[in-house]
Amino acid sequence: MDEELNPLAMARQQLDEVAVHIHLEADVHERLKHCKRTLIVAVPTSMDDGSLQVFTGYRVHHNLARGPAKGGIRYHPGVSLDEVSALAMWMTWKCALMDIPFGGAKGGVVCNPKEMSLRELELMTRRLTSELMIILGPDKDIPAPDINTNAQTMAWILDTYSMNVGHSVPSVVTGKPVSVGGSRGREEATGRGCVCTIREALGHLGMPIAGARVVVQGFGNVGRATARLAQQAGARVIAVSDEWGGVYQPQGLDIEALVCHNQEAGRVAGFAGTEPLTNAELLELDCEVLIPAALGHQLTGANAGRVRARMVAEGANGPTTPAADRILAERGIFLLPDILANAGGVTVSYFEWVQGLMEYFWTEEEVNERLERLMRQAFADVLRVSLREKVSMRLAAYMLAVSRVAEATRIRGKYP
Ligand code: GLU
Repeated sequence: MDEELNPLAMARQQLDEVAVHIHLEADVHERLKHCKRTLIVAVPTSMDDGSLQVFTGYRVHHNLARGPAKGGIRYHPGVSLDEVSALAMWMTWKCALMDIPFGGAKGGVVCNPKEMSLRELELMTRRLTSELMIILGPDKDIPAPDINTNAQTMAWILDTYSMNVGHSVPSVVTGKPVSVGGSRGREEATGRGCVCTIREALGHLGMPIAGARVVVQGFGNVGRATARLAQQAGARVIAVSDEWGGVYQPQGLDIEALVCHNQEAGRVAGFAGTEPLTNAELLELDCEVLIPAALGHQLTGANAGRVRARMVAEGANGPTTPAADRILAERGIFLLPDILANAGGVTVSYFEWVQGLMEYFWTEEEVNERLERLMRQAFADVLRVSLREKVSMRLAAYMLAVSRVAEATRIRGKYP
């Protein structure tokens, strides 16, 4: 695979760069380059046609110096061990940046959930959970939704885990339905956090969010909530897309109506009163805020020179390659890095975990208020370091995050 497009190579490159800036000692640097543990499992699943298919699943723990392993599980044909490992590393930095007491983890299954029935997905998820049982637990490893997984997936994991240990353990997952101990506000938390950091960043640039032209790539859990909340904040969402392509309306899309259209049609294309456009065209639209909220590696050395946004806010994990990063920085495009811009999800996951352990639940207003407070704080911290050290927002976020993880790793020491 092209070095630029290998996510683990990219994550390590980012770590190497920050290591120089924070004068990270060689042995801690070496430890942080490696994931602590990896579990690879075979997931035999009975398919609806009577056949048996064996899927491959991964769960990777990167660094647990600051707390138990936390991170989503994704279902996608493109899942690989390198991708899951990079995503686990990014979760370590994200949790540290938000100063929540978790280490980084990620999981994934190589499968195409779009071609699977609900029954097949349930069977696969339950068998995956049984195979991962040895490393999961509310004080060990707490999964959450990611690409193509949702609250229902978490309910199956919670149920399977609970059946195996003989009692209900709701805190083994976050992002579960509210009816089984989920947190209010979790579903749209990533979008809410993303819009909150965008508002702060626009404020820093002296631009109001009202009337700002926003472009969103992806219409999954993150893209949908981000588009909706951006519109509620007064922004004009002029284009959105999904894996089949996008829709463009320079006057601004009606996101509520688009959500209904998407539910019926299964895609955003064909929404009345819009022009179709490809994902490649969408990334190059003239706008104030471009939000890649789909897969990784969307902005690369090949297209970053044509981005016409004033700001890029990374709703997805790893949407910008290091080569694209350099080009965007040279062109003066303000970047809200993934570990900040999309940290709202894991932050409310933390709130969900805390509420579950306390068995005391908060109102949606309380959740949103606490989330916004932490997001504003993290944005201010990153901006301060960025201005003081004269580095990009990404490097500033990494400097803060990696320093915290390094400190915990250092103080816990080597064993034996
Ligand atoms: N999958 C989300 C992320 O990448 C959420 C993880 C979580 O809540 O644990 O941040």
